[in-house]
Amino acid sequence: MRQRFKPWAKEKLIENPKYVSVEPEKMKGKWHTFFGNDNPIHIEVGTGKGQFINGMGKQNPSINYLGMELYDSIIITALDRILEDEKPNVKLIRADASHLLDYFEPGEIERVYLNFSDPWPKSKHAKRRLTHESFLKRYETVLKKPGEIHFKTDNQGLFEYSLHSMSTYGMFFNQVSLDLHKSDMEDNIMTEYEEKFSEKGYRIYRMEAQFRS
Ligand code: SAM
Repeated sequence: MRQRFKPWAKEKLIENPKYVSVEPEKMKGKWHTFFGNDNPIHIEVGTGKGQFINGMGKQNPSINYLGMELYDSIIITALDRILEDEKPNVKLIRADASHLLDYFEPGEIERVYLNFSDPWPKSKHAKRRLTHESFLKRYETVLKKPGEIHFKTDNQGLFEYSLHSMSTYGMFFNQVSLDLHKSDMEDNIMTEYEEKFSEKGYRIYRMEAQFRS
């Protein structure tokens, strides 16, 4: 995602501790207190500007959504969207998913969403893909059994790689769509990238994958 340096972004994130955690290690094992209830917690890894989690939060008020994003200058837009109508069930973590085990206790999360993750097309960068085996292992640890990953992308190569990586890992698939916008899925909440690419006529791939309990 293109980002412009916004020097004020970090300060604004820090000024909104009700909605953003910039030190997620301190919240390990306590995420339910962050939301103030025991509702299930779903995370979107690589939430970008937060269109998806804000939409999901509105659609499903009894689920808690956490959007995780690496960059201050991107996540700040997700924060603005939350502040627009103060959704109590949508919050943010400015953090790197590589360190997921530092942020969550085993079983603390009930679902992981991966939307339009960076494809890292060169094979020498395969370890950076968010569906690489090393990431699947982290998701499996923090997810309550049987944990699910819901994944969308416009990138056929990444989709094929992810199907292979997940099935090799021992996961199975409850749903696979090779053309989401021509499928019968109702209540699909579009991400920014999904809107952009589907407007250009690109096909959107989607899967729901589950770990074996
Ligand atoms: N999910 C959004 C969408 O569909 O519109 C954004 C997609 S964008 C291509 C991928 C986002 O993932 C970027 O904002 C990037 O900074 C973030 N990202 C990549 N690797 C990450 C990681 N290890 N931890 C957290 N966020 C990450």
